[in-house]
Amino acid sequence: MTTEPASAAPVMTGRATSGHVPTTHDQGGTGLPTWDRALVVVAHPDDESFGLGGVIESLVRAGTDVSVLCLTAGEASSHGAGPDLKQVRAAELDAAARVLGVRSTVLRHHPDGGLSDHLPALVTDVTTAVVQHEPDGLLVFGAGGGVTGHPDHEAATTAALTVAADQGLPVLQWRLPDTVAHTLNDEFNAAFTGFAPEELPIVIRVDRRRQRQAIAAHASQAVPGSVLWRRLDLLGDLEYLHLTPPPTPDQPRIQE
Ligand SMILES: [Zn+2]
Repeated sequence: MTTEPASAAPVMTGRATSGHVPTTHDQGGTGLPTWDRALVVVAHPDDESFGLGGVIESLVRAGTDVSVLCLTAGEASSHGAGPDLKQVRAAELDAAARVLGVRSTVLRHHPDGGLSDHLPALVTDVTTAVVQHEPDGLLVFGAGGGVTGHPDHEAATTAALTVAADQGLPVLQWRLPDTVAHTLNDEFNAAFTGFAPEELPIVIRVDRRRQRQAIAAHASQAVPGSVLWRRLDLLGDLEYLHLTPPPTPDQPRIQE
């Protein structure tokens, strides 16, 4: 296992140190689990950068081998719309992944905007990726609204949680503090889900330089004035996470 010194300094620790799961352990107090391999499951090209880029960069820098499974080509976006948007966004995903130090990406072509209608297929895709990459855990947008309120984000997370429960894997869920979510919702008439401090047991300090470079690789999407930039402003150099342990044998499993 590679255990390079982590860059992500601990900001606070809460329940991150309780309820440990067998396949993880803290690395030097960062709050992030030390995983040899992580699988990121997202809905759209750019989710791995706009949303998870800071966390992915921290994992990679700490020595985790990160792979990304993206479930749509993001063809429904109003930004950069055109007949070749799928190809454009696939290329942007690959470029952003290289910037973040991601080992591999797999892009599936389920319908952008319609993931919730294809949950069994998503579960199959996540299962295939887990078998292929043998991750120690998954990284996803948080459940309970998928952070942004986008149904695709929630569907991708539901599929990941289903497979994680089936395979006995922990899931690192990216979340926003309720203060940040409320501000974004007020300013952008958005539907972000926020959590109280006690629901944010892992708080890490991230270096956003590579994330911003990765965002720049998504040229078709990183438009000025978007909620993305405001969210980064509000978060500063902090990211908030929750680690969901795998179910114990006597716990009910998540149903599809
Ligand atoms: Zn998205």
